[in-house]
Amino acid sequence: MKLLIMGPPGAGKGTQAERLVKELNIVHISTGDMFRAAIANSTEMGLKAKGYMDKGELVPDAVVIGMVKDRLQQDDCQSGFLLDGFPRTVEQAQALDKNLQDLGIKLDAVIDIEVPLDKLMARLTGRRICKGCGSSYHVIFNPPVVADKCNSDSCGGQLYQRDDDNEASVSTRLNAYMEKTKPLIDYYKAQGIMKAINGDQDIDKVLVDVLAAVK
Ligand SMILES: [Zn+2]
Repeated sequence: MKLLIMGPPGAGKGTQAERLVKELNIVHISTGDMFRAAIANSTEMGLKAKGYMDKGELVPDAVVIGMVKDRLQQDDCQSGFLLDGFPRTVEQAQALDKNLQDLGIKLDAVIDIEVPLDKLMARLTGRRICKGCGSSYHVIFNPPVVADKCNSDSCGGQLYQRDDDNEASVSTRLNAYMEKTKPLIDYYKAQGIMKAINGDQDIDKVLVDVLAAVK
């Protein structure tokens, strides 16, 4: 099964991707992980990418696509894969399609984990960090025993919200994501392979829905 997964920050895409590749016994191709590995192993593509990143520039699409194409040609991908983290724009999707065509590969489905904006906002702004020991909490998913205090007896530090987790920063991040991704969703809808999944439910149920949608 050849799949692509997408979803906004806070939708739980990472968790679902991990579970899905186990369930279907396919390869997880996370472009973020690939970058880190290519750079760590100093591959040709990794060095190229690092050159741009060191200069504080975005890695050009052609470099990312080159890496993905190389990866897709490896033996372990022949029985199936889940592409994660790429493409992010219609231009990248078009370039990916061209490369997939060259390799004789066709995507079976594109999974989009959807969560209403207000829920994403609550998930993303709920993180709290301990000033003392740096432990991470979440007001909904992992609340401290005493409000705004670290659970550790030896620490007991004050919890605070990081600047990137405040409502304005999160809203900017989510809006940027939605703006870029909406055309991408339409692009795959037009191909008839788009599967919208309700991500605002128990994570086990989300996986059940994803599996039902792709089978
Ligand atoms: Zn602490």
